[in-house]
Amino acid sequence: MSCIFCDIINGIEKAEILFEDESTISFLDIRPLNFGHSLVIPKKHYENFYNVDIEDLNSVIKATQFLTNAIKTSLNPEGINIISNNGSSAGQTIYHFHFHIIPRFKNDHFTFRPQFKDYTEGLMKEFADKIRIAINTQRDD
Ligand code: 5GP
Ligand code: ZN
Repeated sequence: MSCIFCDIINGIEKAEILFEDESTISFLDIRPLNFGHSLVIPKKHYENFYNVDIEDLNSVIKATQFLTNAIKTSLNPEGINIISNNGSSAGQTIYHFHFHIIPRFKNDHFTFRPQFKDYTEGLMKEFADKIRIAINTQRDD
């Protein structure tokens, strides 16, 4: 199965690489929401966030914080979003796990305009219970 991000890791596909260590690599997103929009990925191929080994996840998180601070210092954005899209409904288009680091400015036209939902009586607990049951099952595994 071909993967454009694995190709970048292997030097087959060109990218503007920013930072690399033993288990992660970071580079500029080719279609930035703002200039400097960057991606951080594990060198090992995982489709998405769900099953990333904890050591790789720790490395990616660490690299993400490191690069976020470099972007903050160098580009002086007013804010920064760290985003991971998982599944096509969530906007994932490349199935090699990655974090987006997106520098943000007021009126930069990158807007989430969600329609917030209202929990009806008892529904909040119902959802919390569902999640807590899964948490307890995962703990027992
Ligand atoms: P996703 O939509 O999966 O969360 O994010 C994938 C990101 O990868 C997109 O923002 C897209 O612009 C970026 N991207 C896709 N192909 C390439 C590529 O070949 N090189 C680089 N640098 N970025 C890419
Ligand atoms: Zn890959």
